[in-house]
Amino acid sequence: MTGDGAAMVRAEGVRKSFGHVEVLKGIDLEVAPGEVVCVIGPSGSGKSTFLRCINHLEKIDAGRLWVDGHLVGYRERGGKLHELRDREVAAQRRDIGMVFQRFNLFPHMTALENVVEAPVGVKGVRREEARARGVELLERVGLGERVHNYPNQLSGGQQQRVAIARALAMEPKLMLFDEPTSALDPELVGEVLDVMRGLAESGMTMVVVTHEMGFAREVGDSLVFMDDGVVVEAGDPRRVLTDPQHPRTQAFLSKVL
Ligand code: ADP
Ligand code: MG
Repeated sequence: MTGDGAAMVRAEGVRKSFGHVEVLKGIDLEVAPGEVVCVIGPSGSGKSTFLRCINHLEKIDAGRLWVDGHLVGYRERGGKLHELRDREVAAQRRDIGMVFQRFNLFPHMTALENVVEAPVGVKGVRREEARARGVELLERVGLGERVHNYPNQLSGGQQQRVAIARALAMEPKLMLFDEPTSALDPELVGEVLDVMRGLAESGMTMVVVTHEMGFAREVGDSLVFMDDGVVVEAGDPRRVLTDPQHPRTQAFLSKVL
């Protein structure tokens, strides 16, 4: 019943339905600290829903889900589960950064203001301190020259890098990426993957839903193939990509590789 303190993410039999449609049918998965886990699978297989469950955007119907040893959304007391209050959920969510396919930057704020917003507004960091740190983060994602630009003055790749810097500004323990390059023109994909690669090398724990098989092979410590709400196959990315064991993995890879 207790979370394994050693895992950053641990899912046991996670289920989620929307109405009568069961989208997650018992997900089992473990992500160790510092590990990069890439998730692939057909559209509609439940990848986004699973990330959203990890980040408290959806509530699971059954199973158990822990982040950094804490049960997501619940507290165990006397053998019973109690739902956390909104304030407690917000505290848990602070440790998780998420980057979406659509960058969702605030359009009326500069790159730097976008990055500074949450540390100041949510964490109560002093604005001057947050700005100094924000400039550092924007430099880290290669946007040191762009701190005062508005989103509409930036390319899609640059906006996505601002979104990554914005997530990092909260100093998360875990970063979730949901197809971060799928909305980008092909020539802009590389600059975003490079930033993600750097982040992986710095030791960040990452779960990355992606169609970029090259990234999965080179950067991922493990590759998970999801289909129809379950983890069909998982393991070393090179092994899964070159020698998939399950017929469903084989069929999927034969279409995308
Ligand atoms: P993936 O990210 O792998 O493409 P999703 O997790 O987005 O898959 O979706 C899995 C299934 O759940 C899809 O059939 C989708 O239509 C359905 N779904 C996702 N979110 C909702 C929702 N809020 N309400 C109803 N159905 C949803
Ligand atoms: Mg999705």
